[in-house]
Amino acid sequence: MTVIAVDDTDSRDRGMCTTYVAARLAERVREAGGTVERTVLVRLNPAVEHKTRGNAALAVHCDLAADRALALADDALDRAETADPRTNPGGVVVDAAPETVPAALADVSRRAVREFLDLDAVRETLAAAGVETVERGMGRGLIGAAAAAGAHRAFDEWTYECISYRERERWGTDRQVDTDSVFAAADDAYPEVWDTVDREEGVAVCVPRTPCPILHGIRGDDPAAVRRVAQRIESEPVVRRHMFVTNQGTDAHLRDGTIDGVRDGRAYRLDGDVATRPETKEGGHVFFTFEGKEKIRCAAFEPTKHFRDRVRALRIGDQLTVCGEVSDGTLKLEKFALRDAVRTELVTPDCPECGRSMKSAGSNAGYRCRDCGTVADGKVEQRLDRDIEEGWYEVPPVARRHIAKPLIRGGFDAPTHPER
Ligand code: ATP
Repeated sequence: MTVIAVDDTDSRDRGMCTTYVAARLAERVREAGGTVERTVLVRLNPAVEHKTRGNAALAVHCDLAADRALALADDALDRAETADPRTNPGGVVVDAAPETVPAALADVSRRAVREFLDLDAVRETLAAAGVETVERGMGRGLIGAAAAAGAHRAFDEWTYECISYRERERWGTDRQVDTDSVFAAADDAYPEVWDTVDREEGVAVCVPRTPCPILHGIRGDDPAAVRRVAQRIESEPVVRRHMFVTNQGTDAHLRDGTIDGVRDGRAYRLDGDVATRPETKEGGHVFFTFEGKEKIRCAAFEPTKHFRDRVRALRIGDQLTVCGEVSDGTLKLEKFALRDAVRTELVTPDCPECGRSMKSAGSNAGYRCRDCGTVADGKVEQRLDRDIEEGWYEVPPVARRHIAKPLIRGGFDAPTHPER
């Protein structure tokens, strides 16, 4: 078996994407007489700044001889957008079965999803493992390519995406996709197929907005189901369809941490308490301070839409687990679990005689009713009506990061309130 992996083949403004390069590469493997076992699409650390969009890297698992595979990888890089100086393609070829690639590549893969890697260090790893490489520009794509090559050995949770591609002459033009057919197909296949649409916002999230060759990408847990949804969508002509095995929707980027240990550019699961009342700031972004041993600011930005209402419903003292990436010392919320909601609050007592609110009788002197003369020692506990229940809440599909796990996929440790 041979693993061919590539990354960093597209530019921000010219219409290309690495999934397309990989789909074409898989076709060329077949044209060369090889068999493609699977194409892997891994999403790496979403905090990486030089990513073009979703920080994707790709690998084709096939049975082509390694030297033929290397020639095809080299050819794929030739077709990349190397005119853009920010595009620095890299490709690797491993002469091994995907599950027996060198352990060092699996390690690169695990770290590339959660940390920042250094190109020179990855080059050394590749050289020490005896892996063949091809590159253009400064070759930064070698990081993603190494990570894609090691992914099958590194991870065991996988989902599927069936991507349909446009005719080349239409790239960059408005996409002709019948939204009703998208919603109907998405409804029938939910929840095996997820994040196809955002019902609340009325958006077909499977249709990208960028000038890339993708017409739509259908994601889910079952390859047959995602393909069926893709086939049911009425649209402009589809020139090719490709099935990817992916780590999308798996939360592979999250690590368990504590607030005092967080670092920028990483994504965490953190336990703590709400320390300040959530506040809506300019632009509609909602912030609150979250507290454990230390404090950290949590944010629900405007694009997370009605998820912000869940955040606004939180109160000081609520115990939460929050998930998201930390940058500039702020955790950008992707989901949270309300573990233990505050159910009472201290309020000024009412007079037992007349029912009116008592007044302060001076500092530390308790409360007094001016009319009836009744007194109370201090504030009293009152039951709070909360408009949020315990459990997991998430951003809606329009705001979902590729790698974030939708609640509907299950496996969470508390009741879930999935967005669809
Ligand atoms: P594309 O469709 O081209 O794959 P993209 O959004 O996935 O677009 P890239 O153009 O691939 O972004 O750019 C990401 C770059 O960052 C690649 O060169 C990749 O090797 C590198 N990279 C990915 N993950 C990491 C990481 N964890 N640490 C350092 N560099 C990384």
